[in-house]
Amino acid sequence: MAILPIRIYGDPVLRKKSEPITEITPELRQLAKDMLETMYDAPGCGLAAPQIGRNIRLVVIDTAIPGEEDPRPYIMFNPEWEPEQGAKPVDYDEGCLSLPEIFCNVVRPDKVCVRFFDINGEPQEIHDCEGLFARCIQHETDHLNGDLFVDKISQADRTLNQSKLRKMAKETQSKLKKR
Ligand code: ZN
Repeated sequence: MAILPIRIYGDPVLRKKSEPITEITPELRQLAKDMLETMYDAPGCGLAAPQIGRNIRLVVIDTAIPGEEDPRPYIMFNPEWEPEQGAKPVDYDEGCLSLPEIFCNVVRPDKVCVRFFDINGEPQEIHDCEGLFARCIQHETDHLNGDLFVDKISQADRTLNQSKLRKMAKETQSKLKKR
């Protein structure tokens, strides 16, 4: 197991569209486990492969409350979601391990169905995902398309966070140049 460095806003890897996974190799199984460990260590409730520098369609999620609930880890290869019938748009304050200290309201459907391949390559389908789990599925899948939650915030929140975002991007880019 290993804790992987998390890429921060301004890193171009976060803006690339990720490739579908055609074969779940032992290397990818290990990567998924390392991503879970990295997410628990952060701590966070979701992590997508671009956030550790890999443009592949893999996300990990665990929305159980640490110390209160048993862990519920999910490893999802090639995840796809759609809103359930009758899903309503809801507000929620989102954050992201790649955007430290930024929390803004994002509107997303409250109930979704997700399809993915598990660590054994078995197709899975989970209906009626709600609450934080539904939120996480959508947020992490966005990462695979190069989208970040700050793309979906209100104009007022954008203005409010503009200087923080610019500073973060600048710092990341100067760190990348030094590598
Ligand atoms: Zn994120």
